[in-house]
Parts: sequence; structure tokens; C-alpha cells
Amino acid sequence: MENTNTDLAVQIRIAGLKPTAQRIAILKELLSRTDHPGADMVYKKLKSDYPSLSMNTIYLNLETFVRHGVIQRINNLTNLGRFDGNSAPHHHFICVKCKKIIDLHGVSLPDVEIPEGFDIANIFTDQMQLNGVCLECN
Ligand SMILES: [Zn+2]
Ligand SMILES: [Zn+2]
Repeated sequence: MENTNTDLAVQIRIAGLKPTAQRIAILKELLSRTDHPGADMVYKKLKSDYPSLSMNTIYLNLETFVRHGVIQRINNLTNLGRFDGNSAPHHHFICVKCKKIIDLHGVSLPDVEIPEGFDIANIFTDQMQLNGVCLECN
């Protein structure tokens, strides 16, 4: 689905943010891909068209989008953040070798038993991660 700049500006404004040209470009890039890119990957794509855009600015804008519920962050503890234009709850497979992230749908959740003595306030079962090795890395 192609998002026009007007659509994106509306989406950004509804989230309570100012739709700057940079924000629109960052969101458009994220929504156009399914590889759950990090800020560095978005930067590589946008730097020729937006020479004034730094990787840090992209990162901060992606984090701002996450805080406002426009996109989601994939909680990858060993890596820099990766971002997902699809803000609906779904699960991910992460290849431990090439760091590829693939959407998983229709995964049923395991019946997790919390060990006694541990205080876990909340388990975020709307974003479960399965780690493994993809076919290309095998
Ligand atoms: Zn892989
Ligand atoms: Zn995803």
C-alpha cells in the first residue's frame, strides 16, 4: 500500500506530532519495507535525498514515533533498536546470525509458568520473539 505524503502527514498529526518533511520521509521509508530496519538502515537509504539528516536524528525520530504509537520497536537486547512500521501486535523470528527479522502470524502463545520467587509484573505477550537461524545462514 502506497502512502502519500498527505496521508503520512495526517497520520503523524493524529499521533500528536508535527509532520515535518524529515519525519514524513522517515515514516514513508519505514512503511515501505518489511525488513524491520534499524536507524542505520534507514539512514543509508535517505542520506542522498536528505543530506542534512543525520543517523542520530533518524534514530530520535523513530523513537518518538514509537512513543506516540505510530510504529513499534522490536526489543532486541543485543542490538541497536530495530523498527517496525506495522504497529499491530504480532510476533517475530530473529536470525541470530544475519539479524534478519521476519513477521510471524498465527503463533499460539506458550503456557508460561513463572518460577516461584520471581516478581514479574507483566509479560509482553503481544510481541513474542523466536530466535533461530534462517535458511540462508544455516
Ligand atoms: Zn540469517
Ligand atoms: Zn514485524
